[in-house]
Formats: sequence, structure tokens, C-alpha cells
Amino acid sequence: MTKKAFSRKEKLFMFGRRISRNRLRVKNRKLILSKGNDEHCPKCGCKSSERTGNMAEYPQHWEKFLCRRCEFMVAEIDNSPYISCWESPDDFGLTAKDIGLTKNEWDELSND
Ligand SMILES: [Zn+2]
Repeated sequence: MTKKAFSRKEKLFMFGRRISRNRLRVKNRKLILSKGNDEHCPKCGCKSSERTGNMAEYPQHWEKFLCRRCEFMVAEIDNSPYISCWESPDDFGLTAKDIGLTKNEWDELSND
């Protein structure tokens, strides 16, 4: 993957303003509890992602979707349907704290 350098102005245009950690957690919490599909990167709130393309050899299919801003893996295809980090947050290394959930809410979510 080639990395292009963008100016601050261009970044602002592409990604919008960076939101504060607390506001992001509130947003994450809302999204995951409502099971909405207005998905964003849980780490930075950015809505833009980049796919790596298939990184395995055919007929295998292994592909990652990385956040354009912080490169957090927001979704993956691993010989599977598209799985977003919102569907199984712990598999993507997210914690209750990242999502703004209490321990109980988090446990309930994983029991689904
Ligand atoms: Zn991000």
C-alpha cells in the first residue's frame, strides 16, 4: 500500500473534524446498542476506509478494510462474509472502554 501525504486542509475535507474521545465513545455506544449501520471507525470516528484487496491466494479470500485515518482494521473478510468490527468487537481487539460500554453491557453483547 502506498501512503500519500495530505495536507491538513485536505485531511479535514476528507475526514471531517476529529472528535473528542468522550464524544466518540458516546457515538460508539449509541451505534452498537442500536445495532445501526451508520458505521465509523471506533478509534477515531472516521468514516472512510480502504480495502487491501485479496491478500491470500485464490480460492482463499482474505481482505482487510483499514481506517484511512488511523489504520485501525474496521472490517475483514477471512474466507467469510464481510465482518465489521461492530459485529464482533472483541475479535478486532476492541474493549468495553473503547465502545463506551459498561462491563455488563459488554458481556450481554458477547452473549448474543
Ligand atoms: Zn480510525
